[in-house]
Amino acid sequence: MSELNLILLGPPGAGKGTQAERLRDDFGLAHISTGDMLRAQVAEETELGRAAKRYMDAGDLVPDDVIIDMIIGRVGDPDAADGFLLDGFPRNEAQAEALAKALKERGRRLTGALLIDVPDDVVVQRLAGRRTCVKNASHIYHVDFDPPKHEGVCDQDGARLVQRDDDQEDTIRRRLEVYHSQTEPLIAYYDRAGLLRRFDGTRSADEVHDHIRATVATLRLEEEL
Ligand code: ADP
Ligand code: ADP
Repeated sequence: MSELNLILLGPPGAGKGTQAERLRDDFGLAHISTGDMLRAQVAEETELGRAAKRYMDAGDLVPDDVIIDMIIGRVGDPDAADGFLLDGFPRNEAQAEALAKALKERGRRLTGALLIDVPDDVVVQRLAGRRTCVKNASHIYHVDFDPPKHEGVCDQDGARLVQRDDDQEDTIRRRLEVYHSQTEPLIAYYDRAGLLRRFDGTRSADEVHDHIRATVATLRLEEEL
């Protein structure tokens, strides 16, 4: 079977995690979220978690050496052998180069870079109302746009919903600055490589999903030819 090795690009709050969950189920891909992996390390109070926390709280990027090793290792896991969906990585050109090199060394390559585009004012609304499940961080809600059936409780497993520490207005602004200065240049980088596909992230989550799913289905067909 041909591999689908995809990355999701877009500002914080664009809906990367929301779409990744759906695409994982559609195409049987490993969903690899750097943010979720880092937050798990913080919760377990590992050395890596302690080192990462102050950057995350400030809305800055965690240093590349920490992140790159963590992700390159994860992409090599058996569940990602038939394809993966990277959510939150790469976030700068050094990370993109490290990923390309590691894949090449293993005889693999990227299939596509999916950009979910939303303007800054939408980001602020989305992140301020985001709530995530304490038991499974991939269960994501929004107080207005995607409320749970019972306030503060996850529909899927009944666990408590919480607001992330970094989803506060000041930190949101900083994360946006970091996105524009460090991550946004990757759009041109992947466009030059012929890998970029753009999606209007201001549409409903269902519409964005329909559009991305159709594109990924086409990419898969092309891989199989
Ligand atoms: P978002 O919901 O903003 O897309 P994430 O959950 O992906 O946020 O990331 C939360 C924080 O974790 C970031 O603000 C950053 O501090 C850190 N982080 C996540 N991925 C990376 C990465 N690839 N490189 C550096 N830092 C990262
Ligand atoms: P990211 O992983 O890019 O940071 P999330 O998937 O966590 O983004 O989504 C951020 C917030 O926006 C969540 O509260 C989510 O419920 C909400 N959301 C996601 N996609 C949409 C959409 N298309 N329309 C409205 N709200 C959305």
